[in-house]
Amino acid sequence: MARGRRRAAPPKPRRNIALAKGYDTDLKLHIDGEWIGAEGRDTHKVVNPATGEVLGELPLANAADLDRALDAAARGFAIWRRASAEERGAVLSGAARLLRERADRIATIATLEEGKTLPEARGELMMAAGLFDFYAAEAKRAYGRVLVRPTGQLSRVMKEPVGPVAAFCPWNFPIGNPGRKLGAAIGAGCSIIVKPPEEAPGSAIEVLRCLLDAGLPKEVASMVFGVPDAVSRHLIASPVTRKVSFTGSIAVGKHLMRLAADGAKRTTMELGGHGPVLVFDDADLDRTLDMLVPHKFRNSGQVCVSPTRFYVQEGIYARFVKEFAARAATIRTGDGLDASVNMGPMANPRRPEAIEAFVADAVRTGARIAAGGERGGGSSDNGFFFRPTVLADVPLDARVMNEEPFGPIALMRPFRDFDEAIEQANRLPYGLAAYCFTENGRRALLLGDAIESGMVGINTVAIGGADSPFGGVKDSGHGSEDGPEGLEACMVIKTIHQA
Ligand code: NAD
Repeated sequence: MARGRRRAAPPKPRRNIALAKGYDTDLKLHIDGEWIGAEGRDTHKVVNPATGEVLGELPLANAADLDRALDAAARGFAIWRRASAEERGAVLSGAARLLRERADRIATIATLEEGKTLPEARGELMMAAGLFDFYAAEAKRAYGRVLVRPTGQLSRVMKEPVGPVAAFCPWNFPIGNPGRKLGAAIGAGCSIIVKPPEEAPGSAIEVLRCLLDAGLPKEVASMVFGVPDAVSRHLIASPVTRKVSFTGSIAVGKHLMRLAADGAKRTTMELGGHGPVLVFDDADLDRTLDMLVPHKFRNSGQVCVSPTRFYVQEGIYARFVKEFAARAATIRTGDGLDASVNMGPMANPRRPEAIEAFVADAVRTGARIAAGGERGGGSSDNGFFFRPTVLADVPLDARVMNEEPFGPIALMRPFRDFDEAIEQANRLPYGLAAYCFTENGRRALLLGDAIESGMVGINTVAIGGADSPFGGVKDSGHGSEDGPEGLEACMVIKTIHQA
């Protein structure tokens, strides 16, 4: 199937309606192999968050478009489930190579439409390429097992692709998130309809182009944009869809789970967090700050695993706050394309507005601003900038201590001992990522066990990797992406007993 397909041609420059320098993509729907423009459809304006400038007009799918995508997904599944693991692997590793070849262009598109700095966008692309390579190999290892039975009987446990997947991606990782969902489904032998974010669509379109140019049959992956609630209702209600994968807010995740329940459909839900950080007084403070400050302000804090609530042991609390705030104040904000900038704008105008309200509420309840605390720091008055912010002594009843802020804001509180630290870390219904810093090995062991979280970093902030499951517990969702678990999330088990 994949073999003998056309070889990838070097990407031709494509022109967009209102072309901003570097926004070299063509905003279209992809359904059943056809790239579909705006003719006769509603559109959405894609905006550069650093400048407020319109980058292009994105066509929005209508109901007939979605039905065509579902029809293609049904046919695509019939084709792709029969493809060998080698054929799937060849498409994924070919797409990984194309992603790397096109890295500069695609990363520039991501920075223009989402705001993150260019090195961050390149890093995100490299992670997506690494994940495609991982799934290319892992597709061959989706082994079942043979049960122990008497002579003359055979019982086989098989893993099979679940069927057509409907996947919904947020705007904060516009390359990596669609990459994650496409890679797992394609590796497992499923077809997929992806709805990337309307706010940052070009990156996802380019990821799909890499897969198609690497030989993915056209029916296997469609890409649609639209009114999110209308698209998800339509796709999830269809009997064609067998699995729903969503990354985004808890409220929307729970809504989609209810829709999926009507059709008893499998779900993978990655729903955000409120990352606790426990810093004990024996931590290597400089090393800890070197890791935590850039990790906090990566992508302007719009990261589901962002460290958010910093609980610091009493003896080092004052020094930790002072040094963290001093480092935050030196972060250079501005247009993500500017090589001297460390933190770009927030992705849309809703975010600085939300962070401003969180800060005002926290200050009202007794928090102290140690750094930032206001909008600004951007290269353009029309951009969506918020300064890197540190709030100290934040009361537990401040709204921001309970709701995911999703922004460049670090919240600090002192703690007395191990038990209090664990109680604080586990007090919210979130459970995605947690971080602990201590040089005491025994304590590190106990911390790893006691924290209610899908991922725990002990003396590190590196909690992901192509081979490592990514996902949360409690309200942060269920199911894993990445690693062998990500592939298995797109598979079902069948046991065949034979005598
Ligand atoms: P939102 O909840 O409106 O949207 C989040 C994402 O879900 C967007 O990409 C949106 O297009 C999509 N979405 C919304 N309603 C949908 C529906 N009915 N069907 C399918 N998709 C739908 O919030 P927002 O203002 O865009 O983002 C802010 C909040 O979202 C943050 O506070 C954060 O909690 C959450 N978020 C989480 C992640 C994550 O990685 N877990 C990523 C982005 C946003």
